[in-house]
Amino acid sequence: MPELPEVEVCRRGIAPELVGEVVRGVVIRVPRLRHEIPGFLVDLLPGCEIVAVRRRAKYLLIDCRGRGVEGCLIIHLGMSGNLRFVPHDLPPEKHDHFDLVLAGQILRFADPRRFGVVLWQPGPPVQAEQHPLLASQGLEPLSDAFTVDWFHAALARRSGPIKPALMDSHLVVGIGNIYASESLFRAGISPLRAANRISRDRYGILVPAIRETLSDAIAAGGSSIRDYVHSDGGAGCFQIQAGVYDRAGESCLRCGGVVKQVRQAGRSTYYCPGCQH
Ligand code: ZN
Repeated sequence: MPELPEVEVCRRGIAPELVGEVVRGVVIRVPRLRHEIPGFLVDLLPGCEIVAVRRRAKYLLIDCRGRGVEGCLIIHLGMSGNLRFVPHDLPPEKHDHFDLVLAGQILRFADPRRFGVVLWQPGPPVQAEQHPLLASQGLEPLSDAFTVDWFHAALARRSGPIKPALMDSHLVVGIGNIYASESLFRAGISPLRAANRISRDRYGILVPAIRETLSDAIAAGGSSIRDYVHSDGGAGCFQIQAGVYDRAGESCLRCGGVVKQVRQAGRSTYYCPGCQH
């Protein structure tokens, strides 16, 4: 499933080729995704200019404007979706549900499992974040608002273990299972430790560790941006240098102890009992 770094790399890949372009046409082949793709986009969007491509949580926001139209195309890749640029004459395949036709190429959305989203939110750009799918999303971990003091205070009353709390998207978005395990490893914090039993000083290590883990994943994908949006769309996850994730039974890269695997909130957690406390 595409995680925040993959969506961010997708955004960086498509933005330079979308911004300033005028939409020539819209093709909807299979509207029944997680929500139905609105049929009116076929008439609404042609003639509109794409003015920005943003990201909020794992949603891509494509701001469009023209002929009395202003609004935002909200796209989520779901479990298996991808966006890629294809030439006008490339025939669609079975799972190619939506095309945004531009002058020189098509931005094509494919989604085999159809958990993706293509929706429209009218109004100025700021309005897009009020859409019901976006309004309850937590802070962006790479934004300036995600500070040590804020995170420490936000978790002060949480007596459950830290790792599921990290993955609560109503609090902070985009810290998926891999990134939660890796961030805690980098910070030397046990995933089993109660969130409210971690000192402010240790949150001072955890917050930068989260930022670095996500930034490293974006950087790992950044080198392949062109492949990402011009070939198969690469919906897989980027390879970060995993310290503990998926390394159960192997030796810890930091202390030589044995990496352990446990279940937390239905998900696999990997950590080193030797150097995470
Ligand atoms: Zn260790």
